[in-house]
Order: sequence, then structure tokens, then C-alpha cells
Amino acid sequence: MWSFETDPEFQAKLDWADAFVREEVEPLDLVLGDPYDKSDEVANRILGPLQEQVRAQHLWACHLRPELGGEGYGQLQLALLNEILGRSRWAPTVFGTQAPDSGNAEILAKYGTPEQKATYLQPLLDSKISSCYSMTEPHAGADPTLFTTRAVRDGDEWVINGEKWFSSNARHSAFFLVMVVTDPEVDPHRGMSMFIVPAGTPGLEIVRDAGVGTEGPEESSHAYLRYTDVRVPADHLLGQPGEGFAIAQTRLGGGRIHHGMRTVAQVRKALDLMLERAVSRRLRNGRLADSQLTQDAIARSWIELEQFRLLLLRTAWLIDKHQDYRAVRGDIAAVKVAMPDVYHSVVARAMHLHGALGMSNELPFAKMLVDAQVMGMVDGPTEVHVFTLAKSLLRDVEPGDELWSSGHLPTLRAKARAKFADVLEHEVAQL
Ligand SMILES: Cc1cc2nc3c(=O)[nH]c(=O)nc-3n(C[C@H](O)[C@H](O)[C@H](O)COP(=O)(O)OP(=O)(O)OC[C@H]3O[C@@H](n4cnc5c(N)ncnc54)[C@H](O)[C@@H]3O)c2cc1C
Repeated sequence: MWSFETDPEFQAKLDWADAFVREEVEPLDLVLGDPYDKSDEVANRILGPLQEQVRAQHLWACHLRPELGGEGYGQLQLALLNEILGRSRWAPTVFGTQAPDSGNAEILAKYGTPEQKATYLQPLLDSKISSCYSMTEPHAGADPTLFTTRAVRDGDEWVINGEKWFSSNARHSAFFLVMVVTDPEVDPHRGMSMFIVPAGTPGLEIVRDAGVGTEGPEESSHAYLRYTDVRVPADHLLGQPGEGFAIAQTRLGGGRIHHGMRTVAQVRKALDLMLERAVSRRLRNGRLADSQLTQDAIARSWIELEQFRLLLLRTAWLIDKHQDYRAVRGDIAAVKVAMPDVYHSVVARAMHLHGALGMSNELPFAKMLVDAQVMGMVDGPTEVHVFTLAKSLLRDVEPGDELWSSGHLPTLRAKARAKFADVLEHEVAQL
């Protein structure tokens, strides 16, 4: 059974969310600071009542199961919602789906002990704290098997030493999920573990915060972290020793597809601005929209967006079906590879159609172009996902056992003649 329609009850919620985000949330992007700073009293005063409205609509933390305070809608419905939330920097915080907290909450829910859930997960779900996912190392990001940050057991504690790079929002985080080597003797896929390190633990140092693109010091939020003899109690291990890689894959699978969902929102925003510009700007022969080159840019942008969106929705549907990110790794990789391309190409066209205004800092396109590049790097670079997809496509393919391709027409024709020989010979005899 195929259908491209949203169930009317959920569509009503999406319509509410759309109007709410446009009227109440998008303006916050222009007046508030960093959504991860939970100590911002002004932001908290505004946010509380907005989050209450979201809860009343049963749209809070939609990525989580009901027992964790979410709605258990699954990835497909989350995708439809995120296509709206992705318009605004603050919307995920207002709706309780802010990355990386959303992914961190998922792995705490899946692998955490009751004590870990009470101490770290619950306040995260209540939006009282922010969290940091600390995995990439300065010398090795795309390939975790090269990580060297090490934890060694010492009595009832683990002692962590090493450096991490681009650990986003460290400055505002109450705790860090850190992936480290615990057994260098075995295959790295079984020799890494995940630890919870509370902020303020002695030896944990933010060396500096890097920004993306032209961000200034205030906005720069991606930390270069140094762990020097950082001691955590043994019960701060998340999951089992050696399970770090598997936990990371669970977390990153969700993170990647959620970025894709929000990217749909940004691309649609760029396309909407492009359409408005095309019918508003006048040339000597009529509107910009009447130029065939403009029509070409618009039509191609719409096609690219809709192709990407369908791939994404199908992948979200597959995740719901299998209930396991690993079972759809290839599909998620395809979304991840397509995402920066469609984002970049539509935004570049929108920027161009807006002339100098498009290049200026009075429209959002320059930032969007950098964000498109970010989507090709964050949670693993494009190349790595190309390998993943190609490998999953090739895995079950058998080599041909003939000299020629299985599509070799003379061979196929000969086989077809043999198959229908009786009839064909009869026809020839009648001539
Ligand atoms: C905005 C932003 C936020 C981030 N937030 C976090 C965070 O919160 N926590 C965290 O842990 N990390 C975070 N990251 C880091 C991100 O996960 C890494 O940037 C990413 O995994 C790539 O690692 P790298 O930067 O070291 O690049 P590299 O690994 O050095 O890759 C550089 C280039 O080499 C190419 N390359 C690498 N390996 C291969 C190969 N085998 N074959 C062909 N080409 C290859 C890559 O495609 C890339 O083009 C963030 C990154 C960004 C941009």
C-alpha cells in the first residue's frame, strides 16, 4: 500500500507547529543568544511558556518513546515535524529535539543504568541542562580506529588522557560523553568505550573554542578539549567496556538522518525566497521569473529538493520498520551524501538570484552555504558515507559466471529464441 498523505490528525499538529514556529519561534533567532546556554535567564523566561504549549500539543521530544517523556511518533513523523523546526535555530530547543542532546539522550536511554538516567538523562529531557558529544580527535576524525585518547582502570576509577576536537557546546555542557580507547590490544571496534564525564571534573580543560565560517568569539562553540588525568568513577562507563563503537554508531545514525530532516527546511526556505525574488524583481523585459534561465534554476531546485525529501522520508520509514539504525546504514549514508549537495546547489542559486543583496549579511545565504559544507563533514565526511553505501550495495552481488555481461544482448536473444523455439518455428513454418 503506497500513500504520500499525512494522517489528518497528525497533519493538524504539523499545521499548528508551522504557524507556531513562524510566529513565536523564528523571531527568537533574531534576539536571543546561544540555545545551549541554560543559564540565560531572559531566554528561560521566554522559553518556559513556549515549551508548555508544545507539550500541550503532544509535540515535545518526538524522537523519544513515551516512557522517556516523548511521544513515540517514530522517525517518519519526526521527519515531517523537523521539516518545520529546521527553519529556526531555536525551534529544536523549544520542541525538545535539540542536537546533540537528542542523540545523547537516545544512547543514555538505551545503554544507561537507572542511576545514570536519573542523574544525566532526566535533566536533559527536562531541558534543564545541555550535553556534549566528545569523539573527534585533532589528528583523526573520519576514522575512529585511529583514536588515541585512552582510559586506564585504576581501582574504582577510570583515568582518561587525550585530546578531543570540535566537541560542540562544551562551554555550556553539564556532562560529556567521551569515546576512548580502553583496550588497545584488540580490534578498535571492540576496544573503545564511552564514558560520562561531568563538567568541572579536574583535568578537563577547554583549550579553545573554534567557530564555523566567519563566526566571532561569542558564537564560536566547538571546543578543543584536553583530558589530563581526568578521573571518573567506574560507574560512569556507559554500556559495557568495548561497546563504545557500537554506541557511537547508534547515536550517529539518528544524528545524520535528523540533520537531513532539518536540511529540508533550510533548502525550502532558500527556494521560497528564490520564488519570491523571481516574481518581485523587474528586468527591462518583465519579471526575473519570466527569464528562462531563472525558470531553469527554480525548476531544478524544486526537483533536487523533492528527490532528496523522498529519499529521506523513505529512509525514516525504513528506520521505523526495522527499529535499528544499523539495518539501514546504506540508506542513511545515501541521505548523508545527498544532503550537502542539494543544500549547496539550491542555496547558491537563491543567493545568485538575489544579486548583491544575496551575497550580503542582510540575508541568510552566506551562512547557509557554510552550513551546507558542514553537513558534508559533521557526523563523518561524505567520502566515508559513499564507501558505506557502495559497500552495502555490493555486499550481496554475485559475480557473473559468463564471459559476457548478464545484459549481453546476443546471449539473451539466443536464450529467448531457445525458450520460445516451438512457437517461433511454427510461425516461420506458416510463412
Ligand atoms: C560544525 C561541526 C560540529 C561538529 N561537532 C562535533 C561534536 O560535537 N563532537 C565530535 O566528536 N565531533 C564533531 N565534529 C567533527 C566531525 O565529526 C569531524 O569533522 C568529521 O568526522 C571529520 O573529521 P575531521 O574533521 O578530522 O576530518 P578528516 O578526517 O581530517 O577528513 C578530512 C578530509 O579527508 C577526507 N578523508 C578522510 N578519510 C578519508 C578516506 N578514508 N578516503 C577518502 N577521503 C578521506 C575527508 O572526507 C575530508 O574531506 C563537528 C564538525 C563540525 C564541522
